[in-house]
Amino acid sequence: MTMPNWLVQRAFLTPDRTALTFQEQRWTFAQLLKETHQMVNKLHTAGLKEGDACGLLASNRPETVFAIFALQQLGVAAVMLNSRLTSEEIKWQLEDAGAYYFLYDESAAQKARTVSGVRSSSMSELHETAGADIKEEYFPEGTCSIMYTSGTTGRPKGVIQTYANHYASATASAFNLGLHHDDAWLCAVPVFHISGYSILMKSVLYGMEVHLVEKFDAERVNQALKSGDVTMISVVTAMLSTMLHALDGSYHPRLRSVLLGGGPAPVSMLEACKEKGIPVFQTYGMTETCSQIVTLAPEDALRKIGSAGKPLFPCAVKIEGEEEGEILVSGPNVTKGYLNRLDANKAAFDGKWFRTGDIGRLDEEGFLYVLDRRSDLIISGGENIYPAEIESVLTSHPSIREAGVVGVPDSRWGRVPAAFYVSEADLSSEELSRFCQEKLARFKVPVHFIKMDVLPRNASSKLLRRKLADRWENRNEY
Ligand code: ATP
Ligand code: MG
Repeated sequence: MTMPNWLVQRAFLTPDRTALTFQEQRWTFAQLLKETHQMVNKLHTAGLKEGDACGLLASNRPETVFAIFALQQLGVAAVMLNSRLTSEEIKWQLEDAGAYYFLYDESAAQKARTVSGVRSSSMSELHETAGADIKEEYFPEGTCSIMYTSGTTGRPKGVIQTYANHYASATASAFNLGLHHDDAWLCAVPVFHISGYSILMKSVLYGMEVHLVEKFDAERVNQALKSGDVTMISVVTAMLSTMLHALDGSYHPRLRSVLLGGGPAPVSMLEACKEKGIPVFQTYGMTETCSQIVTLAPEDALRKIGSAGKPLFPCAVKIEGEEEGEILVSGPNVTKGYLNRLDANKAAFDGKWFRTGDIGRLDEEGFLYVLDRRSDLIISGGENIYPAEIESVLTSHPSIREAGVVGVPDSRWGRVPAAFYVSEADLSSEELSRFCQEKLARFKVPVHFIKMDVLPRNASSKLLRRKLADRWENRNEY
């Protein structure tokens, strides 16, 4: 099976439709193709050829979009690098992915120049030479992108994402949300992450406008959502929570989907969205599933608060074990494996099923509830405790900004939850314990409360609970 070159086909089908807007600038699909060809000529100068891998370290700017499509034109796999990685981490990912070249934008130049051992250049420094072979067709099983997992549970793993994976992800989402001729998707999530990258793939496949935002700013995003210029947006919990704080009034009725993913969402936040009439779609997905694989529609949001929903068509979800257990997923959007990680691949694949490493349960109607990461489960006196549930209760406290919970050794129960939190107020442990007792079963109430200035997070801003556990072990040193 083959498929046409997506961008060329799209520019042929709907050349005059808006493809991309950025600040005051706008590109139609025909113009996007033209810009992309110029970038292809630059990559040709760099010596990139079909089958190569190329690191890309760049922010949410139009040139990055052109570079992403240009790599596809050549059949070169894009190794998408998180702009918050250190140069050591970048070097490691480039080597692990076997990147032939390392391309970056001006915003990343300072850091990029300290990455040694690989041919590299900024996009603006490369001059154009013609003569590159542009792919007429995309090979579905070919590697389109390589994206490293966030590294929340351990060392990041390189996920192979094929054209078929991205295609399946885009169609599955369309079967769920529908396509409207006037859709425009606001992309304020990073394009180096699957949440942003997948918006660009949808754009060429659907013929849809992407409204690209370089840096997330709650006020500005709220303005865009109020204006009626965009109909869809992807957000993570931290973004949505600042948007809610900054919002007065309501969003434009044209806004039809706010896709929320990346991590657990506190129930209090979902309730606040409901009150303001914000059409939130809770989603569950990961780098390995090329964006969301399970989604909760707003019509079920009320009834199923806290659920991530049902699998997208034609994907499937099951739980290992009786009631609560590891979440297994399958579908054409699921990766065929990790790069250079035999052990991880062996552990993750079980026939058609992929083991997510997350624990969840399905209710009687088949709605998925994601409980937490398998590695973070706390077993206390034989009871299962999920840190995310306690964190959600703590962050509903008006004076707590962030919270992280881990299991720590206890002579009586084996392990007990310890809560780390960030707050401007002076809160006593007794007060916090009482607050938790009102909302949680006794055995889930944290035994220790530790105030922090900041919580440890990775380059994707995800909470690093393993660092909190280290912090507890070394607590006498503080
Ligand atoms: P690593 O695999 O290296 O530890 P990571 O899993 O954080 O990093 P990502 O692929 O960015 O890397 O994140 C996917 C994970 O995010 C999921 O496996 C899950 O743990 C969490 N997640 C995503 N959506 C939800 C959700 N709706 N509820 C709870 N957790 C979620
Ligand atoms: Mg993961």
